[in-house]
Amino acid sequence: MQCMDCGEEYGMIMVKDAVWWFATRYDAKLWVLHDGGFPEKPHIFTDDINYCKDCIEKRIGRKLRRSDLMECPVNEHYYGQIPN
Ligand SMILES: [Zn+2]
Repeated sequence: MQCMDCGEEYGMIMVKDAVWWFATRYDAKLWVLHDGGFPEKPHIFTDDINYCKDCIEKRIGRKLRRSDLMECPVNEHYYGQIPN
């Protein structure tokens, strides 16, 4: 999977809706996909729009915390790296 900000290959990371909304609040790509409106369920677009952990952190202006991540198997390899 390739990050659409920095172009690096990275492992999938899934953040909670509120974090994703904030990270993508100025994201023209999402707005265009949703006909000019903000998507009701932003995470459904994670198949099309992907950002790595570092770029999500840049977008939200802080480090990710464990509580920002969705509880799902794809995030398991981040649990050791991301503090609570
Ligand atoms: Zn990136």
